[in-house]
Amino acid sequence: MGELKDRNIIIDDTTLRDGEQTAGVVFSLEEKIRIARMLDQIGVGELECGIPAMGAEEQAAVRALVDLGLKARLITWNRATISDIQASIDSGVKAVDISLSVSDIHIKNKLRKSRSWVKEQLKVALDFAKKHDLYVSVGGEDSSRADLDFMVELMTIAKDLGADRFRYCDTLGILEPFTTYENVRYLLERVPMEIEVHTHDDLGMATANAIAGIKAGANFVNTTVNGLGERAGNAALEEVVMALKHACGHDLGIDTRRFVEISKFVGQASSRPVPEWKSVVGERVFSHESGLHADGVIKNPSNYEGFDPAEVGLTRHLVLGKHSGSHALIHRLKRLGYELNRLEANDLMDRVRSISQRNKRALTDPELMTLCRSI
Ligand code: MN
Repeated sequence: MGELKDRNIIIDDTTLRDGEQTAGVVFSLEEKIRIARMLDQIGVGELECGIPAMGAEEQAAVRALVDLGLKARLITWNRATISDIQASIDSGVKAVDISLSVSDIHIKNKLRKSRSWVKEQLKVALDFAKKHDLYVSVGGEDSSRADLDFMVELMTIAKDLGADRFRYCDTLGILEPFTTYENVRYLLERVPMEIEVHTHDDLGMATANAIAGIKAGANFVNTTVNGLGERAGNAALEEVVMALKHACGHDLGIDTRRFVEISKFVGQASSRPVPEWKSVVGERVFSHESGLHADGVIKNPSNYEGFDPAEVGLTRHLVLGKHSGSHALIHRLKRLGYELNRLEANDLMDRVRSISQRNKRALTDPELMTLCRSI
């Protein structure tokens, strides 16, 4: 597996597939093209861009994305059927994810079939895809509830028939990072095959599970912009990339400075506006109010910022309100053209606190200036 920094980790962003699959979310063709272009420009290596089996319009959209001639590899989502894969071939892609239910719960209660039926489906679909020279990811739907030894069996068949990688899916978002790590390790130790991790945020652990999977040896990771996706969403692109960089010391070389721009666009196109406190890209995640923090940031931003906001396209805000200290007040008023001494600042701070408490918010610059003129 080697050191993380020496490994080639590839982001497979599925904003255009699992992201659009979010209940109520639809992208226009123009929006899909813009999203694909932006992700390609910043260096995302692979884009899962649709489900051609859905019909002519989806196929035309995938075809339009293929015609852009992006650097990123385009991959589509397919059930393990010849007709689905044929629809992908007709759309012009050279890579497919072939998805199969792998847990007994799904095999019995959803498919109403058996494990041997699943193995047969895999063989038929993979044989067809490989005859058409496609790059194939075999997707294990509901991997997190599946019997690991059955998955070893499936992966062995997949590998023998020429599949290029296996997608380990925590379809329901029910794993935690330690188990994710152990399960991915277990599979990698038994089948020499590349693994991709596909994680969901139902318990708030999509990013943590994605990182755990990578640390266990997965070389591909599924993400979506803003963590858009089924139910609580998928692992967020911006979180996974920044966590790899700052928590794991592995820089993927992606141009992160456009994260906020892309996040805002996807927020608007999906009608799912980005919360101000959203990790990494929320407008106010670099706002400082409390006395100690604001003072520390004024002295040196690295005192209270894990990374520079400019790295993702954000700006820092120093907010004056109930929890502020006099140092931040002096600093702000100086920028507004008022020189205050320590005593005056302390006096003014009491009034800032009581106004903030009464209004349940921070003070605006005009309010601060009015206060200043009154003393
Ligand atoms: Mn999913």
